[in-house]
Amino acid sequence: MGSGSSGLRRDLRISYEMMAPAAVYPSVRGRSRTFSVDRRVDSAGSAAVATRNDGSMTQKMNVESFNLDHTKVAAPFIRVADVKHLPAGDTLTKYDVRFCQPNAAHLEMPAVHSVEHSFAECVRNHSDTVIDFGPMGCQTGFYLIMVGEPDVPATCDLVETTLKDILTLDAVPAANTTQCGWGAHHSLEGAQAAARGMLAHRAEWEQVMA
Ligand SMILES: [Zn+2]
Repeated sequence: MGSGSSGLRRDLRISYEMMAPAAVYPSVRGRSRTFSVDRRVDSAGSAAVATRNDGSMTQKMNVESFNLDHTKVAAPFIRVADVKHLPAGDTLTKYDVRFCQPNAAHLEMPAVHSVEHSFAECVRNHSDTVIDFGPMGCQTGFYLIMVGEPDVPATCDLVETTLKDILTLDAVPAANTTQCGWGAHHSLEGAQAAARGMLAHRAEWEQVMA
């Protein structure tokens, strides 16, 4: 990280704290505890300022991805979307695992649903630090939340291994009315096509901006 990135991080921290002080949560014993809000993100992603539909700039928003200029990215990619340091000393890192170019392409919902099921099940064969893997409402990617400090190269390896697992499946895990809220709403073919498309660009995952 160069001095420019450090300056950026400082600016982000200042602007964020001006808008919203670190959240204070009461502990079970009644003492307040503070979650530190770490604005460390990749130098590309959150450098952008939120814009309105007409393109005019607005102030920083609470949701990290709302401050990402989706017109400037080059999917597929994997980037750090958030880092949280918890009171007991643990760190959580949230990754943006972007399959499709925003506003140009998206996954159909049955494919999204089946990637969610398949990835969530398979990734835990390779890692015990996965907190969650969930779809974005825009259907262009997923958020992967992991225990630990940001490690994009290792996370790319984990995603690659898991997507290769998905290509070997002959059924979507837990795609039934007992284990899922919409058991008929799945497409193994769609999930495997999405995985194949993502894997075809493996060498580009760490490049976020066009
Ligand atoms: Zn489901």
